[in-house]
Order: sequence, then C-alpha cells, then structure tokens
Amino acid sequence: MSFHTIVLVKHVPDIEKVRFDVETGRIDRSSAPGEINPFDLNAVEVAVRLKEKLGGMVTALCMGPPQAESSLRDAIARGVDRAVLLTDSRFAGADTLATSYTLASAIRKIGRFNLVVCGEKTVDGDTGQVGPEVAEHLGIPHVAYVCEVREVYDNRLVVVSDMGDKFLVEVMLPALITVTRDVCSPRLPTLRDILRARRSRIEVWDADALSGFIDISRIGLKGSRTNVFRIVIPSEYHRRGVILRGSDSVSKLVEALRMEGLI
Ligand SMILES: Cc1cc2nc3c(=O)[nH]c(=O)nc-3n(C[C@H](O)[C@H](O)[C@H](O)COP(=O)(O)OP(=O)(O)OC[C@H]3O[C@@H](n4cnc5c(N)ncnc54)[C@H](O)[C@@H]3O)c2cc1C
Repeated sequence: MSFHTIVLVKHVPDIEKVRFDVETGRIDRSSAPGEINPFDLNAVEVAVRLKEKLGGMVTALCMGPPQAESSLRDAIARGVDRAVLLTDSRFAGADTLATSYTLASAIRKIGRFNLVVCGEKTVDGDTGQVGPEVAEHLGIPHVAYVCEVREVYDNRLVVVSDMGDKFLVEVMLPALITVTRDVCSPRLPTLRDILRARRSRIEVWDADALSGFIDISRIGLKGSRTNVFRIVIPSEYHRRGVILRGSDSVSKLVEALRMEGLI
C-alpha cells in the first residue's frame, strides 16, 4: 500500500505584531510577516512520520495569499514531498465554511489519499472548525484533538483523542484527524533541507484550476455565511494592588471589600 497523507497548513501572520482593521473587521495581514501556523508543524510531523513508517508520500495544501508559498517551503524542508498553494482573489473573504469547501474541492482534485492531517486550530482565526468541516465536505470520518497516533492496520487508523478525557478511537480510512501539540515534537529542518526546499516547485492553483471540482458560488466572500458586524479591541484593565500591613490589616481588608460592594 502506498500511503498518501495530505496535510493542511495555514500561513498565519506573526500574532504578536499583527494589527486589526477595525473598519472592515478583518486582520490587516500586511501589517506583520507570515509563518506556518505553529500547530500545523505538528500536523506536518505526523504526516512525515507516517511516510517514514509506511512508505508513500505527503502532500501539503494551503489556501492563502502568494506569500504563503514560504510556509509551504517550510513544510517541504520538514519532509513534505508535494506542495499545492490555492491562491486567487476569488478565494478572499472566505469564512470557515468557504475555506473548508475550497480545501475539500482541492483535495478532490488531488485525488486518492488515505489520511488528511490538520492542526487543532490556528493562532489567528482560532476556531478549530476547518478540519472537521473539510471531513464533512469530503464525506469521510474525522477524529479531533488527536494527541497520539497508535497504528495503521487493515485500512484502519488507531488514535487517542484528548477531549478533556482521553478516548481510544479506531476509524476506517480515508479519514481526517486534527492533532494537538502533544502528538509529537516537530523536527528542525537542516540547512540542506532548507536549500532543497528553496529550489522545490510549488504548484499554484487558482479557482479555474479547480474547475469541475468547485462551485464558484460557494467560495470567497460570496460563499461565506458569516457576517462580521463589528470588531472591538478590548481596552486593557490594570489591577490595583494594595498591601495591607499592621495589626489593623484585617479590618482594613473588610472595609475595602465593603467599599467595593463585595461583602
Ligand atoms: C466574513 C469573514 C471574512 C474573512 N476573510 C478572510 C480573508 O479575506 N482572508 C483570510 O485569510 N481570512 C479571512 N477570514 C478568516 C478565515 O475564515 C479563516 O482564516 C479560515 O477560515 C480558517 O479558520 P481558522 O483560522 O479559524 O482555522 P482553524 O479551523 O482554527 O484551523 C484548523 C486547521 O485547519 C487547517 N487550515 C485552516 N485554514 C487553512 C488554510 N487557509 N489553508 C490550509 N489549511 C488550513 C490547518 O491545518 C489548521 O491548523 C475571514 C473570516 C470571516 C468570518
């Protein structure tokens, strides 16, 4: 069996530096440099370890702006064999429903696969919805929050899912899993890997490239069912600290709590 894993990687802005466009309710992605979503490094590692154990290949798939190519090169440096970037202004403005639909359409075009691996969530959108939604679009089973991949046998996958309590789950393949950070430690690419990745080909697909697999009315802003009415940056509150000393500190504390209406 040639095991084919598709790993979904998102190119995210450096969350420490990024600004929000309060007018449009969107992230101003030009305000910060981008990188591979940190949770997706675990997804890449799981996919590459399965290849090393079972043979086969790993394809990385990303929907994002042209700059997202750098995240796919990072994935190649870490052992991915093929990389596909979905980029087109018609994909822009997508909510999780339109994003997952577009990714699922591209997976259909990629063709035969055994497993799709996603991160548990992203550091920017942080919904954790895309993985399970992709599985629904493809009509395959999924297991979320996988913290351990046990084995693959007889076209089945055995994993442990951490939903607060841990569950041992067996699914028929093809399936989709989303993985937590506990699942493994991502490897560091060597300089040789980075140089090889720099020379590797990234396949770039626009909406036309998905023709026959996609309904254009279901992608981008047009295909999105979520409306952002307003985005608010919460104001920062600083705690006031008071240290009470002396023999009357208890009565002072009682008085202070009374003043705040807490007792
Ligand atoms: C009205 C609206 C408009 C929006 N417009 C834009 C926009 O113009 N541009 C924009 O970038 N975002 C836009 N967003 C945000 C966009 O919907 C989310 O970034 C996207 O759906 C992914 O959701 P998430 O970050 O919560 O991913 P999660 O569900 O938290 O991600 C889980 C996993 O799914 C996979 N994954 C998620 N997204 C991708 C991806 N793009 N490619 C490959 N794998 C992925 C990864 O493995 C990831 O770890 C918009 C959102 C809304 C509601």
